[in-house]
This record gives sequence, structure tokens and C-alpha cells, in this order.
Amino acid sequence: MGLMVHKYGGTSVGSIERIKEVAKKIAEARDEGNDVVAVVSAMAGETDKLISLASEITDLPDEREMDLLMSSGERVTAALAAIALQTMGYPARSFTGRQVGIQTDDAHTRARITHIDAEPIRKTLEEGKVVVVAGFQGISSNQNVTTFGRGGSDTTAVALAAALKADLCIIYTDVEGVFSADPNTVSNARKLDKVSYDEMLEMASLGAKVLHNRAVEFAKKYDVPLLVKSTFKEGSGTLVTNEDESMEKVVVSGVTCDKKQAKLTIALVPDKPGIAGKIFGQIANAGVVVDMIIQNVSTAGITDISFTVPGGDVSKVEGEVKKIAEEIGAGGVTINESIAKVSIVGVGMQSHSGVAAQMFQTLAEENINIQMISTSEIKVSCVIDSKYSELAVRALHESFKIGEDD
Ligand code: ADP
Ligand code: ASP
Ligand code: MG
Repeated sequence: MGLMVHKYGGTSVGSIERIKEVAKKIAEARDEGNDVVAVVSAMAGETDKLISLASEITDLPDEREMDLLMSSGERVTAALAAIALQTMGYPARSFTGRQVGIQTDDAHTRARITHIDAEPIRKTLEEGKVVVVAGFQGISSNQNVTTFGRGGSDTTAVALAAALKADLCIIYTDVEGVFSADPNTVSNARKLDKVSYDEMLEMASLGAKVLHNRAVEFAKKYDVPLLVKSTFKEGSGTLVTNEDESMEKVVVSGVTCDKKQAKLTIALVPDKPGIAGKIFGQIANAGVVVDMIIQNVSTAGITDISFTVPGGDVSKVEGEVKKIAEEIGAGGVTINESIAKVSIVGVGMQSHSGVAAQMFQTLAEENINIQMISTSEIKVSCVIDSKYSELAVRALHESFKIGEDD
């Protein structure tokens, strides 16, 4: 018995039948004596549909308007779920992000939560009602609706769990937990019983979309007990928690892939102080996050600079980067959107040598060329041609022997 936050993803609420099933799961938790806050996503495919409606009008829609548009998908599900609960005889109320006091900065389409006023939820729970919250959205200080980036309903759930000091946050989704690789790509991927916040943060940031990376940030910062489970199948799921000794024994816990990145290369850049500051300063001003950066060894005072940005942000920086390239007398700008970043993640890497070498050899054996490399204490990432991404993930999964035994 206690306070639980549940989150149901798009597939879990993908039809009226499924919304009714979700209402039953919430009702069960109530019957067991728990207070329940349920965060819901838009019905599967709805957010994509809303985005494509705007793209029928323009390639570069205003982000404030996009946020109002995208936030509507979650509101539909929240209201329907509350109606389903009420019809079953369980008092329930649905709320938007603003109504439950989720305040954010004003970075439209990728807003960060700055404060949560948990009072409206507490009051409703005290009245004996189930609270259903539309995920993925909040309100900025100037009263505009904001959204948290794709997959952001997880973040609503974990942030509410932190603000309410919930006893447990369960992310209900369409797979049985967090796996050693995407189970839809790697058939013998192993379900992880436990994963550390740090590993999960890397995996989520590097393409394992089963959890939104900001959700993991919140869970780690506020020590939220976080469980990832299937909506459809019984099972123990995956507990995301603090690192323990058993986790350190495993060198590589997971392999991930992110195909939503693009590589920009500025050729023939004069190699002198201030150039990188100028290029990346302008990109930062456009609110775009740069991930990997490579600068070639300069020959005769000329170099190439390559870097990656989220694929969806190319149109925001392309014009600016071309302008700077011209200003500094560089050769030109090329853009490659068919890249993928494959990564291996594991806390055990900290105490093992040769992990990166094994990754590079494995890719070489498959004749896959590595375009960029980046490392941290617990991960190694390589940028490769996207057409080899599935092959690379399977080969790495095999090489580090992290799958289920056949
Ligand atoms: P939801 O709609 O419930 O939020 P998502 O589609 O956002 O669900 O995330 C679940 C999906 O994440 C799975 O269907 C799976 O294909 C994908 N996925 C990628 N990497 C992993 C992983 N390592 N473990 C589990 N699922 C993963
Ligand atoms: N509906 C949003 C998306 O599709 C948010 C979410 O599902 O978490 O990205
Ligand atoms: Mg999701």
C-alpha cells in the first residue's frame, strides 16, 4: 500500500479497448489500497499524425504552435482513461500538465521541468480520486504550453513521482523491461533484472527509447524507485536503481543504436584560434545540442571539422553553418543524414581494458567503417553508415556475449 505513479505508453493506450484494459490495471492497484497517479501518452501514432498535419503546411512550423498541437494527443487519452475509470465506478479526474502544476523553461519542443507544485494532485488524491495526467507537457513562465521532446511522458511520470515522493514509479510499456539490446532488433536480447541509473541514462541517451533520458535523470537525482514492465504480460520487469556489486561484474550490459543523428562536415577550415568557438557558439545560439565533434589533424594550416546534431535539428543550423563557412573562408559544408551511432554501455568497463578495441575489431570483421568515435567511463560509441546499424548491433551483442543462451 502506498502512492504509486503508473505511466502507460502509446501502444498500451492504442485503442479504446486498451484504454479500458489500462483502467482495469489502475483499478486493481486502487483495490489493493494504493493511491494512483496515472500518466498517459497519446494513442500510438497520434503524435506523428499531429506533426505530419503541420508539415502539410510548412517545413519549419513555429515551435510554440507545435507544442500546443502535440500536447493535444495526451489530453485525449487522459480524458478517455478518466471516463473509463468513472464508468467502472472509480472516481477519477484527468488533468493537463499545467493543471497539475508542471512548470518548465520556455524551450519549446524540448522543455525542461523547473518546478512542480504537487498540491493539486495531493488534494485530488485526498478526495479518494485517481489522478490521470496528460504526459509530455507543462507550462512555461509566460503561460505557453510546452512539451518535453519525443518520449517525454516517461519524464512526466518520474518527475511527478519525485515531487510526490511516491513509493514506486512503474513505466508500463510494450516490452517486458529493459533489455541488453532492442528486443525488436535482437531476438536473443536478455531482459535485465536490474540496471543502474548511470547505465540506464547512457542507454536512454544513446537510443534505447524504452525510457526518456530526462526521466532517468530525475530518477537518479531524486532516488525514485523505477520499474519498467509490460502492460500486456505478467513479469518482474526491470528495476532501475543504484549501482551494486553484481552490476560491476558485467563488462557490457547493453548495446544501443541511435539513427536520429546527422553529421555535418565543414571542409578546408583555416586552422586558427577562435574558429571552433565561432561555429559552435552560433549552433548553441540556435538552441541545438552538438554531440560528437572531430577535427582532423591540420595540414598546411587547413583542417576539416565534423560534428553530429539531432537529425530533426539540421534545418535549424544548416543555413547558419553555411554562412559561417563562407565567412571564415572554408571549403563548404556537407550533410550526411544516413548515419547511426552504435554504442556499448556497462559500468564494468571502468575496470576492464580492451573493451573499445574489441568493439572496433567486431565492426571491422563485419567490414563496417567507423566514421567517428566517442567514449566515456561507461560507454563507447561509434558513428557508422546507418545501413549497417542492425548488423552492427547484432554483431556487438554476439561479440560481448550478453544475449540469452539458446
Ligand atoms: P512507450 O510507447 O510505451 O513509451 P516506446 O516505443 O517509447 O514505448 O519504448 C518501447 C520500445 O523501446 C520497445 O518497443 C523497443 O522496441 C524499444 N527499445 C529500444 N531499446 C530497448 C531496450 N534496450 N530494451 C527495451 N526496449 C528497447
Ligand atoms: N506522445 C509523445 C511521443 O510520441 C510522448 C510520449 O509518448 O512519451 O513522443
Ligand atoms: Mg516511450
